[in-house]
Amino acid sequence: MILPSALLSQFRQSQRMVVVTGGGLSAESGIASFRQALTGPWANYDVRDLATPQAYARNPKLVWQWYDFRRQLAERAAPSAAHHALVDLEQHIPEFLLVSLAIDGLHWRSGSRDMVELNGCVQRTRCVENGHLGDWDEEGETPPRCQRCGSPLRPDVVLLGEGFARHDVSRATRAVEQCDTILFLGEISALDPVAQFPFIAQRANACRIVIAPDDSVFSLMANHTVQTTPGEVFPQIIAHLLGKGD
Ligand SMILES: [Zn+2]
Repeated sequence: MILPSALLSQFRQSQRMVVVTGGGLSAESGIASFRQALTGPWANYDVRDLATPQAYARNPKLVWQWYDFRRQLAERAAPSAAHHALVDLEQHIPEFLLVSLAIDGLHWRSGSRDMVELNGCVQRTRCVENGHLGDWDEEGETPPRCQRCGSPLRPDVVLLGEGFARHDVSRATRAVEQCDTILFLGEISALDPVAQFPFIAQRANACRIVIAPDDSVFSLMANHTVQTTPGEVFPQIIAHLLGKGD
């Protein structure tokens, strides 16, 4: 694919970049969305049975098992070429922040470090009473108990209706207010605060780039849109940026 030179020079010149990812990038690694994962024994469940704080209060074992299932799906998947390209990009941009709505942990596994996972990560757990992060023992009770305080563990993800952690939202929003470039990579749910990012970036005079197959609020507000999946073009952009090819 021939990429516009203005787009490439924006990547080359950027000093402060925010990249936003979500379900589109997970899909490139073959990870099922919440609804796609409702198959087999899970087919008759509803989001209210599996992914709300009320569901956890009612039946913590079921909620734990659902996220355990999704954790295994994520563990079997491999980071895509776009995940790896983001790691290279992070090394290249002086101030860089990755903001992801994905819970699969693939950014972390591929090596991204400057990151806000707004929805948390299915690979981590925290205890209900004190929020201790940590490991758990597969043997014994379901859900397992915190090794530090004995409180039951839950997945360290944002359940439906809980809202994002305030410090994550403010860190991500501040980075968008201060960036010179924001890239929306792949399909992303238009939830606040992420749905506000194009407007915040516009007020900050930041260049807005979208690489995604379909139209969205992000593409409507973009200075540059590349209408394809991230894997088709993003690794090529980064290779170009790093002088590994034209
Ligand atoms: Zn604890």
